[in-house]
Amino acid sequence: MTTDAQTANSSQKVDRTTYGLPKPVPAYYPHPGSPLYANKALYTKIANSKKTLVEKHICKPRTGIAFKVPAKSVFRLTTPEGPQVCDLNIWNQHNPRERFWAARTRQLHSAHVSTFDRLWSNLPYLRPLVTITGDTLNARHDEWGGRAHDTLGTRCDPYVDKLISGEDNDFHCHSNLTRAVMPYGLTEFDVHDVLNVFQITGLTEQDQYFMEACPSTKDDYFEVYAEQDLLVAISACPGGDLSQWGWGEDKDDLDGSKMVDCCRPLGVEIYSIDDEEEVLREWQAPEVVNYKGNHGFKEPVE
Ligand SMILES: [Zn+2]
Repeated sequence: MTTDAQTANSSQKVDRTTYGLPKPVPAYYPHPGSPLYANKALYTKIANSKKTLVEKHICKPRTGIAFKVPAKSVFRLTTPEGPQVCDLNIWNQHNPRERFWAARTRQLHSAHVSTFDRLWSNLPYLRPLVTITGDTLNARHDEWGGRAHDTLGTRCDPYVDKLISGEDNDFHCHSNLTRAVMPYGLTEFDVHDVLNVFQITGLTEQDQYFMEACPSTKDDYFEVYAEQDLLVAISACPGGDLSQWGWGEDKDDLDGSKMVDCCRPLGVEIYSIDDEEEVLREWQAPEVVNYKGNHGFKEPVE
């Protein structure tokens, strides 16, 4: 039950005011030939194509891992032992300044993503890093408005934990991702807003972010096609399946933590497409946007 204390600090009203306005439409609605949206026939063909498993990883509970994924391959994130939230970061493998941009992806597609949506890179690049080819949670939408694979929130981090609880905790997703990418020459400053894979979130009637327990089973997966050579990092969130999440866990006495009991591993499977030439005949490597202006700066005039 929602208590007054839980909603007291929202600036937002529950009640709506009627101004007689026309119903708004999505800001980035599709138009014919739009480069924003995936060619569904092509990505269905990729999803259904014969593939060979080339690499497999397990990300242990409460840890992070990073791995390279070559362009034109497909990778799958799994929850091999049941519900577990996955915090995902993606970079261009050759230029880590190009990385996933959650906010623009949210605008171009939706606040939660599923099959055929793309995960876009930041400026000054703005091109798909991956296109989603499979999602067994299948755009799930529950009675509270909770949906799967969230771009609204971001990773848990030790700074917000310290701020809220006063405790130092070193295994939040931000730290797990930081440790995972250090061997690739990246640092804490390269870790960015995540896609929360397998995480169910939404907004309350007062527009506040909420999280529900992760429903994924050992058979669920989230699968994407790599549009570029990628560096990918994932964290098995220390909040586990988020059924018992909280801040200020006592790291010296984890026996008392209910969160530990709902933490599970994540799986990664990287596949190559067997007949690339045939399956990818209509695919083109995404180009950066060809903006030729200079943000209004002019050449000096004599
Ligand atoms: Zn986390």
